[in-house]
Amino acid sequence: MSRMKAVLAVAALTVGMASAAAVAQELKGPIPYPVPQPVGTTKPILVPYDKLFHYGTLPAYHEPDWVSDFVKQGKLPPVEQRLPKEPLIVDTSMTSDGPGTYGGTLRHVIGARPQGWNWIAGQYQGYGGTEHSTMMCLVRTGPMWMLTPEKVEPLPQLAKSWDWSDDGKQLTMHLVEGAKWSDGAPFSSEDVIFSWDDNIADPNIPAWAKAGAFGEGTKLEAVDANTIRWTFKDSYPVTTIYQMALNNFCPGPAHILKPLHPKYNKTATYDSYINALKPEMLPAVTMGPWVPVGYKPDEIIIMRRNPYFIEVDDQGNQLPYLDEISFKLSTWEDRTIQTVAGTADYTNMEDPNLYLESLKKAAEPNFPNNLFWSVRSLSWRVDFNLSTVCGVETDADKAKRDLFRQLDFRRAVTQGIDRDAMAQALVKGPFVAPFAGGLHVETDFFKPESVVYYPYDVASTKTLLKKLGFEDTDGDGIVNWGDGPLKGQNLEINLVYGSHPAYALLADSLIGMMQEAGIKLIAQPTQGSGQEDINDSCKWEAMLWRGDRPFTVPLAQLQDLAPMSPRAPLWHMGKPEKPQELLPFEKDLITILDKVRTEPDGAKRADLLNQYNHIFTENVYSVGLVTIPAALIVNKRFKDVPAGAPVLAWQWSEDNTLRERMWIAKEDQAQVPELMPGELPGVN
Ligand code: CA
Repeated sequence: MSRMKAVLAVAALTVGMASAAAVAQELKGPIPYPVPQPVGTTKPILVPYDKLFHYGTLPAYHEPDWVSDFVKQGKLPPVEQRLPKEPLIVDTSMTSDGPGTYGGTLRHVIGARPQGWNWIAGQYQGYGGTEHSTMMCLVRTGPMWMLTPEKVEPLPQLAKSWDWSDDGKQLTMHLVEGAKWSDGAPFSSEDVIFSWDDNIADPNIPAWAKAGAFGEGTKLEAVDANTIRWTFKDSYPVTTIYQMALNNFCPGPAHILKPLHPKYNKTATYDSYINALKPEMLPAVTMGPWVPVGYKPDEIIIMRRNPYFIEVDDQGNQLPYLDEISFKLSTWEDRTIQTVAGTADYTNMEDPNLYLESLKKAAEPNFPNNLFWSVRSLSWRVDFNLSTVCGVETDADKAKRDLFRQLDFRRAVTQGIDRDAMAQALVKGPFVAPFAGGLHVETDFFKPESVVYYPYDVASTKTLLKKLGFEDTDGDGIVNWGDGPLKGQNLEINLVYGSHPAYALLADSLIGMMQEAGIKLIAQPTQGSGQEDINDSCKWEAMLWRGDRPFTVPLAQLQDLAPMSPRAPLWHMGKPEKPQELLPFEKDLITILDKVRTEPDGAKRADLLNQYNHIFTENVYSVGLVTIPAALIVNKRFKDVPAGAPVLAWQWSEDNTLRERMWIAKEDQAQVPELMPGELPGVN
């Protein structure tokens, strides 16, 4: 060793004793993404597109005997008058148990609470299957997972067919003719146009759909009572059809809602309109298989069969087979606990803390349920609020947002996370895998080489923080701001997360790892609607959450993948009057997503989505944590639960399992009595 080198080495050692960051000058670069092994999945029965659902007529239609009694008493029109001219015929020939029998009840448990029944204005009904019971949409995507590969496209629902003009700029949709709302009022293009013009395209309404995701300048008009026509600026924006499914384009009843909307009612406000249909206003008016008829706050929602439901089985039996479904208002964790115990019937098991215990019970001979594992399509992530226009009040807020907008900061965070340790903290075994953020790893278009995966390396984190001007000047282990309005203060960031045990476990683990790296995260757990309020306010710094669906089925939610409108994505919101200040790579993401929207070739769309994923992960747009598989658990009382139904594919399982086609054998119906037997919405 030369004398000069020796001096340098001693100097480095001395500094090293004072600060570990100083010795780590080298950043550890990306490594190949460690692709996890899939957890077991079941082979499904696949059905051809035209066989699963089609519009047509059958020689005769049938209904439960107790419903026929209302017809005989003159309280209800006969079933053939209640059904559309051509009902939607649902296949039962390829199911495991064939056509069903009527009767019985399905007990759900949910963790959220209903806001109200004005879903077209963006209200939720409590999730966990409530939306899937009340809403009908222009098209249906949930059952696409069971289609044979030659045609895997959105299925008809309120739109029975559609065709493109030669130049691809117009899409004409033919609506189901003669369909009725659950109160008997006719459904028509007026409901669809009202939903678009006065809800989705009205910036004052926080609708699920974002008009911008349909393409700038898109117009929708009624041709006649049963026909609507879209006009686009681009040619063949084919993926737009995916935006017309649950929850995006499920029309609301114009005959109920129009008189409550400020455009048509001078005494109404947007707030009064959005909240006009409170949960206790029953029966709600829907087109779904079941209609809300009973509600007790914090206890239960009860829904009964919709006598005007537009679907029949291939024998002419009006669906659903189940007369009733209920939603106990509890917690998401309780949904799995009760289903495993047999006191509820249906859960998407997505609670890693319950996996081992549930699997132990599932191995017992008297386990009351069927259980199907899905691929890893759920993941936790940490987002930093990147908005400079929304929720920024002080110079300190501004300084933090500016920090979050720097790649070096997001990379510092991601390299400070030991995802393997985090996975095992959640549940031991092969279930949980590291997640880089971006698109989900077990989707069919995902290519692992698209991922830029920064490895765990605290030394790199410290180097990056130093590069950003942070140093622990007071020796308490947390780096201090070097400049700006927070100069000299410790780097402290609030971390918002939900109330579920898994969130708390992951938050604890993350807070510990960040402490190690020199960043102080301050836990801010939320309860009840707290999370929604924080989301709306835009006043949060970091958020640990799950945003699964856009990243599993990007075509269905392009609007949530980049700032394509002021109201999305959650971690970079603008305001209706002030759009986001885009980061350079966000512009690239938007350009790619715009191409996806108009790309008819599936393979080319997959390439574009992998390009999106590369830019996303390279820029640590979101800090991925871990990803888990989920399992669908349904009580064995139910027949025709499609084997292998995924918890999350194009939709959540409650749409994927075709619950209107599930049934209970007569002899098993008495095991769980109906809560409101004989009740028919709007009739008695
Ligand atoms: Ca400090």
